Amino acid sequence: MKQPGPEKVLKEQKIDEKWWDNWIRKGGWRPEGWKIIEMNDGPTLNNLRPEKFLIVHRPHGNMFHHSYGKTSKFFMGLLEGKLYGTKCPKCGLVYCPPRAHCFNPKCRLEETKWVELSKKGEVHAHTVMAIAWPSMAHLQPLVGAMVRIDGTNTCLPMTMRDIDPEKVNIGLRVNIHIEKQPKGDLLDVYATPAEKPKAPKRTPEELKRFREDMEKTRAWVKKTFGK
Ligand SMILES: [Zn+2]
Repeated sequence: MKQPGPEKVLKEQKIDEKWWDNWIRKGGWRPEGWKIIEMNDGPTLNNLRPEKFLIVHRPHGNMFHHSYGKTSKFFMGLLEGKLYGTKCPKCGLVYCPPRAHCFNPKCRLEETKWVELSKKGEVHAHTVMAIAWPSMAHLQPLVGAMVRIDGTNTCLPMTMRDIDPEKVNIGLRVNIHIEKQPKGDLLDVYATPAEKPKAPKRTPEELKRFREDMEKTRAWVKKTFGK
């Protein structure tokens, strides 16, 4: 019987394994320091008294080695600056994010075929992120958009650049870009406006609150990252 292994490495972007091993060991969940604090505590807010607590500083580092499985071609495409989706040969639906099998019930999990996609699309939905994951926190307020790439039937989430968060609108035509030094990750993909955005309708009150939120977010970023 045929076996799937052994694996044959065709191409590799090597990592400095020693350096990362060391980083992982240092972030191995053992406390590096601690502090004892005193705070008020009690069963109700009317019945508080000072109590001592121990806080430990416990670093945490991980390295995940994981496969993208049957959607690998999409991520390999990013490494070459290309966008790929998958198309169902039965019903013609085009997926990006790609699906290895069609989810149309009529197609009974038909295996899809890879197709290269255009780098144009339009905003289907969007949000302005004032709480982003740590590696993106310095970019806040950040526009996140669900973009339907031309010729596809689904939406790919991506961040937007060169746009005022106040002005992004549903239906906005966008150009899709891939980072110059891609890492084989969804964050390699971003969009910029391909036309002048039209600010969505907001009441004066909504606009005031939106601007206040943006100001608070920018002030926090400046305080935290100094820019
Ligand atoms: Zn189908």
